[in-house]
Amino acid sequence: MNQVVNPATEETIAELDEPGVDELNAAVARAKAAFPAWSAVSPPDRIRLMRRVAALIEENAEDLARLETRNVGKPISDSRGEVAMVADVFHYYAGAIDKHHGETIPVAGGVDMTFREPLGVVGLITPWNFPLNIASWKVAPALACGNTVVLKPAEITPLSSIRLGELIVEAGVPEGVMNVVAGKGSIVGQAMCEHDDISKIGFTGSTEVGANVMRAAAGTIKRVTLELGGKSANIVFADADLERAASAAPYAVFGNAGQDCCARSRILIERPAFDRFAELLADSTAALRVGDPEEEKTEMGPLISATQREIVSSYVEGDVIFRGEAPTGPGFWYPPTLLGPLSNDARQAREEIFGPVAVLVPFEDEADAIRIANDTPYGLSGSVWTRDVGRAMRVARGVQAGVLSVNSNTSVRVSTPFGGMKQSGFGRELGMHGLDGYSDVKNVFVATEE
Ligand code: NAD
Repeated sequence: MNQVVNPATEETIAELDEPGVDELNAAVARAKAAFPAWSAVSPPDRIRLMRRVAALIEENAEDLARLETRNVGKPISDSRGEVAMVADVFHYYAGAIDKHHGETIPVAGGVDMTFREPLGVVGLITPWNFPLNIASWKVAPALACGNTVVLKPAEITPLSSIRLGELIVEAGVPEGVMNVVAGKGSIVGQAMCEHDDISKIGFTGSTEVGANVMRAAAGTIKRVTLELGGKSANIVFADADLERAASAAPYAVFGNAGQDCCARSRILIERPAFDRFAELLADSTAALRVGDPEEEKTEMGPLISATQREIVSSYVEGDVIFRGEAPTGPGFWYPPTLLGPLSNDARQAREEIFGPVAVLVPFEDEADAIRIANDTPYGLSGSVWTRDVGRAMRVARGVQAGVLSVNSNTSVRVSTPFGGMKQSGFGRELGMHGLDGYSDVKNVFVATEE
C-alpha cells in the first residue's frame, strides 16, 4: 500500500494500491493497442479533444489546486497558478497541432517532403515538486503529436496526476490513449526505461536518476529527454536596482520551499554591493510568510518529507547570515536560510540542496561573475541584474544555462523553450520546441521524371 501524506500535517490523505510491473505491462499493452487509431485522429478532432481537456482542467481548477497543495505542501496561491498553467499548456498544444508540419525541399528529379511522425507509446516519468505542471508539459505535446502515453508520477505525489488521467478520459480521449501507473521508480520507472514497446522516455528528476534512465533506455535505443537538477546563479551587479533585485530574490530560491530545479540558489553579488544587498535580502526574506499552505496569504510551505528536511539540515553548519521563522509541530518545516559569504568551492555552493537555503558568493567583475556562474556541473537557469544592457547581454550569452532572465526571476512560459545544458539535461519542453521531443522527422522523395 502506498500511504500518501500531507507534508504540512503528516496525516495520511490517501492509501493506494501500488502497481507493479504487471500493471505497467497491461498499461503499455492498452497504449500500444490505442496508438493506430489515436495517431489517425484528424487534426481538427484532436484539437477539439485537447481543448476539451483544457476546459475540464479549468472547470476543476480549484479542486486540482487543493489536491496539489495537500499532497505537495505548496501554498494554495502557487497551486492555483500552476493549475492555470496546466490548462494553458493544453490550450497551447491544441492550437499547435495543425501548425507543427513538415517542409518541402528543392531536389533534382522529383519532390521531397518531410512529415512529423508520432513515436508510438511514450513513457513519462515525473518528480514530486511540480507533479501536475510537469506532467502537463509532457502529456500535452505527446498527445498533440499523436502518441499514446504511460505516465508514472513520483510515488509520494501521485494524486493530481491520477486526476489528470481521469479528466483526459472524461474529455473523450479514447480509452487506452492516456494511462497513469503510480508505481515505484526503482521498479515501474526502471521497467519503463527497459520496455520493448515504449519508444521514448520523457524524464524530469535528479541528475543521478537521469543517468540511470539513460543507461536503461540504451538497450532499446529509446529516445530520451532529460530535465534534471540545477544550481543556478542569480548574478547581482553593483549598478542594479538593488531593492528590486533583493525583493525578487527570495521568490527565486524559496518558492516551493526551495524544491525547485530552477532555484537561483547561488546568489552572486559584486563585491562593492555585497553588504548592502545582503542586508536588503535578509529584510525581504524575513517578510516571507511561511506557514499553513492552505492559508490564502502563505508564500512558503513545508518541505516534502522528513528525509528531505534531514538532507537540507545537513548543509547548514555555520556561516548563517539570516534564518527566518517556520512553524513547529507536525509538518516538515524548515526556515528560509541565507548562508555566506561563501566561496563557490563550498559544498553548499556546489550541490543541489533542494530546500530553502541560499548561498551568497561575492565576485569581482563581469568575467569573474561568468566564471563562477559556469563553475558547476549544472546548467539549467539563472538571472542577471544590471542596468547596463550591453553587460546584461554579454553575461546572458556567457552563462551556460538553458533559461536565463535579465532583471527578472522567471524562467518558465508556456510558449518558450525550457530545459538544461550540461548535467541539467537535454531536450526542450514547452513552446513549439516541446513537440520535437515527441515526433520523428520522416523524409519522402517522389520521383516525377517521365
Ligand atoms: P528523482 O530523480 O528521485 O525521481 C524522479 C522520478 O524518477 C520519480 O517518478 C521516481 O519515482 C522516478 N525514478 C526513481 N528511480 C528510477 C529509476 N531507476 N528508473 C526510472 N525512474 C526512476 O527526483 P525527485 O526527488 O522526485 O525530484 C527532485 C529532482 O528533480 C531534483 O534534482 C530537481 O532538480 C529535479 N527537477 C528537475 C526539473 C527540470 O525541469 N529540470 C524540474 C523539477 C525537478
